[in-house]
Amino acid sequence: MAFDSLTDKLQNVFRKLRSKGTITEADVKEAMKEVKRALLEADVNFKVVKQFINSVSERAVGEEVLKGLNPGQMVIKIVKEEMDKLMGSETTELKLLPSNEITIVMMCGLQGAGKTTTVAKLAGKFKNKGKKPLLVACDVYRPAAIKQLEINGEKVGVPVFSMGDGHKPVNIAKAAIEHAAKNDINLVFLDTAGRLHVDEDMMNELAEIKENLNVTYTILTVDAMTGQDAVNVATSFNDKIGIDGVILTKLDGDTRGGAALSIKAVTGKPILYAGMGEKLTDLEQFYPDRMASRILGMGDVESLIEKAQSAIDEEKAKEMEEKFKKASFDFNDFLDQMEQMEKMGGMNDILKMLPGFGNKKQLQNLEIDDNAMNMPKAIILSMTKQERSHPEIINPSRKKRIADGAGVPISEVNKLIKQFEQSRKMMKQMSGMMGGKRRGGFKL
Ligand code: GDP
Repeated sequence: MAFDSLTDKLQNVFRKLRSKGTITEADVKEAMKEVKRALLEADVNFKVVKQFINSVSERAVGEEVLKGLNPGQMVIKIVKEEMDKLMGSETTELKLLPSNEITIVMMCGLQGAGKTTTVAKLAGKFKNKGKKPLLVACDVYRPAAIKQLEINGEKVGVPVFSMGDGHKPVNIAKAAIEHAAKNDINLVFLDTAGRLHVDEDMMNELAEIKENLNVTYTILTVDAMTGQDAVNVATSFNDKIGIDGVILTKLDGDTRGGAALSIKAVTGKPILYAGMGEKLTDLEQFYPDRMASRILGMGDVESLIEKAQSAIDEEKAKEMEEKFKKASFDFNDFLDQMEQMEKMGGMNDILKMLPGFGNKKQLQNLEIDDNAMNMPKAIILSMTKQERSHPEIINPSRKKRIADGAGVPISEVNKLIKQFEQSRKMMKQMSGMMGGKRRGGFKL
């Protein structure tokens, strides 16, 4: 889980600070020593750590903090603000050129960093915002990369321009721009070739594309799990070809957080997005303040609300409310609800964003098995449409067929149907109560 170990350590330091009624300069010093150790163990760049500790200490030992009503809380607030600053404070968005011009985004990065996956995620994101993007396969060294881009493009519903592996990347890019201009496309993503290490050939190839085309943004993908290596890669790319921003991939598996905390401070370039999983929807806008909240275990309620808003279809929610009132909820609705929950990333992802649930320790007894949802889903999927909307017709022979189809024992089918009947009964009772109250003059 992202930032687990760093969050744990920082929360220990904060717990100690909070437990003290008064705080002395020595307490702050001691706490800062522990924060410093935690950040270094998280693989944050040592210069960045030093600067960060100095800034926090300078502000934290001030009179108004130590003599204030809640000094522990004040120190934590300062740590949070300085952490926001470290990651750039402001959210950086990719602003597209006016629609009569073509915005060209060149994606670069080392092999395996997640470039091909991320470029498709990003193109999909813009497509969902109503834009008309094009993906361009410029990685001519790995035929598998072209195929992968085509598959990903299809999954996100974005066309892919490719010319196979017999042309120079710069020529493919030029042809793609001509194709875009003819087809009324004004957003082009170039998926360039990576290498295992930073090397001359790769940099020259990227420089050549930049020299020949009006590249609007050069974006680097780096793997968060490689910590300081990711920061070094970002520095090399920025020095050699100049980058406009970074996408940090695999943040979902990064327990330490060193790259997230160092990249902006070391390279001066902002983190634009964070990859949070292998699915093509797992790309989040990078908000420094929200990220700092997550790292410090304070949760990220804003992102949770946004996730819910984008996953939940308002029309459907209204329809569901009506069904709930009339107790006419059936297995089709049940399936819909499950799918909406999945779109939000499952229960564990949701819990992680709640304040206080950020780190694993608190989640240990609460880890919810998202697979637990799979069995009811399989059972419902084995029902016919008619059975889903009229569960009362499910007789023993239908139950057997459903159980066989879902690969579960009949007892599981019985259990699900029983649970469903119970909840329908409850709904009826509740809607009866609501109706009664309304008649009594209450507004609900
Ligand atoms: P490329 O060589 O840079 O084009 O890398 P790929 O796009 O092929 O990705 C390499 C591997 O990383 C693939 O298995 C991806 O599914 C995986 N990957 C990419 N982004 C993420 C992410 O944000 N989280 C996780 N967990 N895996 C990712």
